[in-house]
Amino acid sequence: MSAPLNYRRILLKLSGEALMGEADYGIDPKVIGRLADEIIEVQKAGIQIGVVIGGGNIFRGAGLAAAGMDRVTGDHMGMLATVMNALAMQDAIERRGGFARVMSAIQIHDVSEDFIRRRAIRHIEKGRIVLFAAGTGNPFFTTDSAAALRAVEVGADLLLKATKVDGVYTADPARHKDATRYDTLTYDQVIERKLAVMDTAAIALCRDHGMPLRIYDMTVPGNLMRIMHGEAIGTLVS
Ligand code: UDP
Repeated sequence: MSAPLNYRRILLKLSGEALMGEADYGIDPKVIGRLADEIIEVQKAGIQIGVVIGGGNIFRGAGLAAAGMDRVTGDHMGMLATVMNALAMQDAIERRGGFARVMSAIQIHDVSEDFIRRRAIRHIEKGRIVLFAAGTGNPFFTTDSAAALRAVEVGADLLLKATKVDGVYTADPARHKDATRYDTLTYDQVIERKLAVMDTAAIALCRDHGMPLRIYDMTVPGNLMRIMHGEAIGTLVS
């Protein structure tokens, strides 16, 4: 018999880059398919799951502003990029027999539901995988902040940040051979040491509401389920 499940409700943050695979833009159907499989596996095991998806594989407001565009317009485009990614994930989940709902923080009624907290919780309780799109709905924020916000709002037990590295390091492991990985960190250590975990607003929100955050390597198949069974994979910030 497998180990018992450690969580009842989780919020998973997937960056837009996580969906690109080896490409430098857009969505790799194989990668999004594998992530959908892992998300469905966790839901079928009885864990309620919401997902916040980023948009950096398509547009980022800061990048567009650096190229001369009005920042707020750039952020609107970034938020719309997250909606496209969420629609792609909804499609991938439903083609595999799962149930998903895109809930957007900006109103696009022909395409997605609005984010209404109580309705989102109801979907999650019914076993639907809720894909939170358009970040917080406000410019100058990130989808990391949206993930922390939604995790707190829906009462998740754990916020997971899926990355391509196996946790948080003392320095960039790609450039510093002597960098070591942290197993655990406090919120204040992340902020004081300026560790590239999530932006400060997201970490502060987690800290103020006691939301545990685990950063893990989503490129290793099965990691999500292993964490659900209590394995200490990656770095825990609490
Ligand atoms: N964005 C925003 N408000 C939010 C969330 C996102 O304006 O609450 C915009 C912002 O321009 C951001 C883009 O959407 O660069 C894509 O989100 P993010 O960079 O967080 O995506 P990720 O890095 O996770 O792929």
